Amino acid sequence: MSLIIGDKSVVLFHYTLTVDGETVDTSREEGGQPLAYLHGRGNIVPGLEKALLGLKVGDKKAVEVAPGEGYGEHDPRGVQKVPRTQFPTDVEIEEGMMFTAEDEDGVTQVHVKEVGQDYVVVDLNHPLAGETLHFDVEIVEVRAATPVELQHGHVHGPGGHHH
Ligand code: ZN
Repeated sequence: MSLIIGDKSVVLFHYTLTVDGETVDTSREEGGQPLAYLHGRGNIVPGLEKALLGLKVGDKKAVEVAPGEGYGEHDPRGVQKVPRTQFPTDVEIEEGMMFTAEDEDGVTQVHVKEVGQDYVVVDLNHPLAGETLHFDVEIVEVRAATPVELQHGHVHGPGGHHH
């Protein structure tokens, strides 16, 4: 009997993520391990999670995920002009740089869009916000989650959390 993916399934799958024909991320590089997630807990983007429902080991699928079901729409308010003085002086700020900033909402990834004489334009959106995501997936393993995994809301062991 082979399990199909549903609520409380632990799933291991290989994936390649492409955006505009360019590979952004893949588990298939040499030595790459499949990604593990707990179905129904929002461990992966909603559009992909929905598309994997009902699949079983060995299934392959090409999944297109719209921004709203992926990393969200690009919010123009996330693009901000910040005085250069707010950045450390010992760091060379360059266009395309990513760094993490901390505020009352927690940690955010900040992406440098433009560097001027005395200002820096940053984008607080997720780097893949507004993008349509193309996933090529292959299901490697499906098993029932353990009670502890259900309690934690994530997978333990290979491809998951170690703690
Ligand atoms: Zn845990």
